[in-house]
Amino acid sequence: MRVIFLGPPGSGKGTQAKRLVASHGIPQISTGDLLREAVRDDTPLGREANGYMTAGNLVPDRLVIALLLERIRRPDCGGGFILDGFPRTLAQAEALEEALKEKAQPVEVVVNLEIDTGEVVERLIGRRVCPNGHGEWHIRFNPPKEANRCDRCGDPLIQREDDQEESIRTRMEAYSRDTKPLIDYYRNQGLLHTIDALGNLDQVTGKIERIFS
Ligand code: ADP
Repeated sequence: MRVIFLGPPGSGKGTQAKRLVASHGIPQISTGDLLREAVRDDTPLGREANGYMTAGNLVPDRLVIALLLERIRRPDCGGGFILDGFPRTLAQAEALEEALKEKAQPVEVVVNLEIDTGEVVERLIGRRVCPNGHGEWHIRFNPPKEANRCDRCGDPLIQREDDQEESIRTRMEAYSRDTKPLIDYYRNQGLLHTIDALGNLDQVTGKIERIFS
């Protein structure tokens, strides 16, 4: 199964996509996670992407497209994948379509998570992540077992640099300008399923599972 998650920053794409990995046995691919990993490892790509990400701007298409296409060519994607955070521009969507057409393995489902902007800002401001990439929590909606510590390694949680108010605003603008047009793009292809992303994690997962069944 080849699935795309669309939705504004903070809509829960990453959290929901990760939940589906266990139940569907296909990898979740987050360009945000791949880019943050490149930044942590201080690779040439990471050094180029870092400034864009901190400010909340999109990383240039040429970098992200190359990164994603390399990732989906790996053997673990043979049975499909869940893309979370890609595509984010029309150029990215077209590059993906082209690459999958060559293999006759098109995208089958696009899940569009719809949510109000006010709610999203509260979610992002309260988000805390593990500095070692073990996951993310929310101070109110999904707190870790021990206050402000990673459930897996116990290290103190941190706030993502782009979860500061200024960057959040920039990310929301980038979403409206560059990513929102993809809703029509996939609706026109008959692939779009929009769900209300408000509600607790299990409720939203339930709605997504209903789309797949
Ligand atoms: P969110 O969806 O909450 O904004 P992500 O972790 O998906 O967070 O992305 C974080 C940042 O990584 C983005 O603000 C952007 O700078 C960069 N990024 C991730 N995916 C893409 C993409 N497909 N195209 C361009 N930039 C991207």
